[in-house]
Amino acid sequence: MNKDNIKAPCSILEDKQLKLFDFFEEFSEYESYGEKLSNGCLNSDDNLIRLTKHGNFYFKYKYAFCPDCYSSNVVKNGNYVRKLYFLNVGEQKCIIQKYKCKKCGKIFYTDIKSIVDENCNITKPVIEYINEIYSVSGNSIYKIQYMLKRFFNVDISHQSIESCIISDENDDIADVAAKLPSSAADGYGKPFFDVFKEAEFDFYKIDKGMFAPAEVVINDLTTGKIYKEGYVNVDLLKKSFGVDN
Ligand SMILES: [Zn+2]
Repeated sequence: MNKDNIKAPCSILEDKQLKLFDFFEEFSEYESYGEKLSNGCLNSDDNLIRLTKHGNFYFKYKYAFCPDCYSSNVVKNGNYVRKLYFLNVGEQKCIIQKYKCKKCGKIFYTDIKSIVDENCNITKPVIEYINEIYSVSGNSIYKIQYMLKRFFNVDISHQSIESCIISDENDDIADVAAKLPSSAADGYGKPFFDVFKEAEFDFYKIDKGMFAPAEVVINDLTTGKIYKEGYVNVDLLKKSFGVDN
């Protein structure tokens, strides 16, 4: 049989029931909630069309317009390929449509940020699922890896899973820790009397951060990471209490 003559995405016919929207973009907006849920594109942008072409996912805009000059006078201008992991679908070759603005010449891509972050090949629903089972049940990374493969057809390394969890958890903690100690406050580094004087002896004008602890240690029990910020500034203490060196 000559494979070139096959137009339908036959390579996946055995394990997936294909719908009209897999072939005709006019039908893509009728993709049901269940369909979106099953391939992990539930929260995708309304302006995003997903088609299945020759077994690959194909992403394009419903209404394309230039992000620079907002002109809708744009033409298709090639595409690029990304391999992404979707819930239930697993590893999937994705073809992303590129456009060129005829007015200003800007070349731009179909934005699929609603589905996956730029520097990541694991789609958001997979990451959400990983973090959900991790936080609810405290399952080990290897158990999560097994569950993903067994129930959702997603076969990724335990390092990838670990990075999904860490990137999701650590962003906040590191940020919070950095802001906690008094050294992060405006006006830090002066003896308290000077600060009070500068605030015209109005206690409430002083940055609240000045009353924070000098040193803060946060121990993240889920990752085992320790965040230490700030330190006891002995010189400043001596200055504040009028102690000579
Ligand atoms: Zn333009």
